[in-house]
Amino acid sequence: MGEKCGIFGIFAPKEEVARLTFYGLLALQHRGQESAGIASADYKTVRCYKEMGLVSQVFTEAKIRKLKGKLAIGHTRYSTAGDSSLKNAQPIILNSKFGDLALAHNGNLANYQELKKYLFKLGHGLNTTTDSEVIMRVILAAEGKTLREKMIQGISRIKGAFSLVILSKNKLYVIRDQWGVRPLVIGKINTQGWIAASESTAIESIGGRVVREVRPGELIEISQKGLVSFQEFKNQHQGFCIFEYLYFSRPDSVINDQLVHSTRMAAGKILVREYPVKADLVISVPDSGTSAAIGYSQASKIMFQEGLIKSRYVGRTFIQPNQRIRDLGVSLKFSPLSRILKDKRVILVDDSIVRGTTIAQLIKILKAAGVKAVHVRIASPPFKNPCYLGIDVSRYSELIASRNSVEAIRKKLKADSLGYLSLEGLKKAIGGKKIKFCTGCFNNHYPI
Ligand code: AMP
Repeated sequence: MGEKCGIFGIFAPKEEVARLTFYGLLALQHRGQESAGIASADYKTVRCYKEMGLVSQVFTEAKIRKLKGKLAIGHTRYSTAGDSSLKNAQPIILNSKFGDLALAHNGNLANYQELKKYLFKLGHGLNTTTDSEVIMRVILAAEGKTLREKMIQGISRIKGAFSLVILSKNKLYVIRDQWGVRPLVIGKINTQGWIAASESTAIESIGGRVVREVRPGELIEISQKGLVSFQEFKNQHQGFCIFEYLYFSRPDSVINDQLVHSTRMAAGKILVREYPVKADLVISVPDSGTSAAIGYSQASKIMFQEGLIKSRYVGRTFIQPNQRIRDLGVSLKFSPLSRILKDKRVILVDDSIVRGTTIAQLIKILKAAGVKAVHVRIASPPFKNPCYLGIDVSRYSELIASRNSVEAIRKKLKADSLGYLSLEGLKKAIGGKKIKFCTGCFNNHYPI
């Protein structure tokens, strides 16, 4: 049920909110390619459209125009195989005594089973297998007269990662879990409009201005009266997902006041100190490894070169979740610049290895293109443990580093050398800011 998604919300009575949400979702497409949806409200009615597919496949001009309103929320979804269906697409809509409510969620609950039991005991049913529906129902089942009171009561039962945007017919709520696992940023558009988005780049791409991050445990209510913030939930032992820096977020996003691209470049530079090697070229696995590869090149003074060209048009959506097709997917996606690479010793940089599929196939492709040696450098530590808080990696058996030593991985991959960045190195790259991270995937320390 792991979900790493993109969420967006806007309250801007003078704007075409559904259209801006559509553009915002385009900027968040990298966070989820399975389904997309928008819900809008015009103070009277809540409307929603969602469908499987990429944002640009789901929404046509006619569909956007129908989503009239003053406020809107949107979602791009990414999930593991199995529960990928329209039924689980978001925003989810529930009718209540407050009228129709729409919710979009990024993250993963830690006490989903417990909450499900609690709801069943109260006599509630569930329409979907997403934990997002559970959040909505737990809120509605909670004590309190107003929706906000119910949110405060309900959310204090919920443990895990949840960045949320919730829309009623005339209000937009923005909520971030007490642990601050997934990112959430708030911005302004023109003088009267407010935006919330998973990443800063979605705010900037629609002409908005980033104001600040939503604080862990904060509930924000946006209405015609403006924005009001409540620090409602006790700030817990914090654990911002370190993977947001190294893979999930776009390089042009700013998290905790830091440009993601610069952080990745710094990781590449530290990787040179930890694992130097003689070679002719530094190349990257585009796009996820490019920032780190540039850093590696700068610090090692070995030239960075385009070595693999990535097809922009082979989406994850079209790649079936079995190993044979996954292997094929890699060669559909990347083609080598053979004439540049032939007889060269290359340093191949990527941000992470999960199953090992991508890198193993790329090494094969590079060797077939005449590359003399492939030195793999990974800008993060070995990914050893499943994530319970929103990455789609749920089983130990899927993780090559949970079963193998670095040397055994190198042999399996048929790499000439393999170096992973240390956790200290990664933290150093992220810098001096006093942020507490969730590093569970690397060292089994989870904040929750
Ligand atoms: P794998 O081929 O399974 O080893 O996956 C590693 C590749 O997928 C790397 O190029 C990463 O940039 C990328 N990656 C890392 N984490 C994830 C994730 N949670 N979902 C999808 N791709 C990922």
